[in-house]
Amino acid sequence: MTGQSVDIEQNVGNLLSQIPEKNPFGESVTLVAAVKTQTAESINRAICAGVTDIGDNHAQEFKANYGLISGNPRRHFIGHLQTNKIKYLLGKVDLYHSVDRLPLAVELSEKSARAGVTSQILMQINIGNEASKGGFPPDEATAIYEVIKALPSLKIRGLMAMLPESDDLPLLRKLAGQMRAIYDVLREKDRDIAYLSMGMSGDWRLCVDCGSNMIRLGTAIFGPRNYNV
Ligand SMILES: *Cc1c(COP(=O)(O)O)cnc(C)c1O
Repeated sequence: MTGQSVDIEQNVGNLLSQIPEKNPFGESVTLVAAVKTQTAESINRAICAGVTDIGDNHAQEFKANYGLISGNPRRHFIGHLQTNKIKYLLGKVDLYHSVDRLPLAVELSEKSARAGVTSQILMQINIGNEASKGGFPPDEATAIYEVIKALPSLKIRGLMAMLPESDDLPLLRKLAGQMRAIYDVLREKDRDIAYLSMGMSGDWRLCVDCGSNMIRLGTAIFGPRNYNV
């Protein structure tokens, strides 16, 4: 890696001016900075530039950086979560996006109860039915919602999805629209449901256009990730 510098401040400024104030459903859109592999210094630069929400993928990184983050941003956990790592996050994460299997929901509920906290969660949906991705099958979302809803110490706040990597825009729009439809069904039942977390650096415009109200951007803020540091 050369010491190529990335203008995080300019990237955040551009994004905050490009992200529409409201999606087509009249909802405001929250930008979550996806901070995996980034140093606390870079994360703090993004926060100084106007980022209010940050999302971690790795419990160890979250723990290592926790005391080094300034500005008191809202904290999201967006990565695959192993049950033995929950203890590092309990009471510190404002929203868990990646609840992708029932045993994880059960364990997060039990550990939250023991710690005396309620954990706010999104159900991750595998909207493209991809073997490489976690999440609940779209056609089981409502049934699984009812099961998770019955667990104490969790509050379901919405849904999270990752669209497949594809240039097929009609397909991506169809899948994003299906996510919005599932979201609308659940929101009819439950007014605590307020977040549809969908959209990354490559597809956030399409996702917001199709009804996402929370986007998770890494590369667009910090530049390409270097996994070898
Ligand atoms: C890394 C990551 C992102 C951000 O990806 P970019 O393409 O860099 O914007 C969003 N969501 C999740 C779950 C991620 O792991």
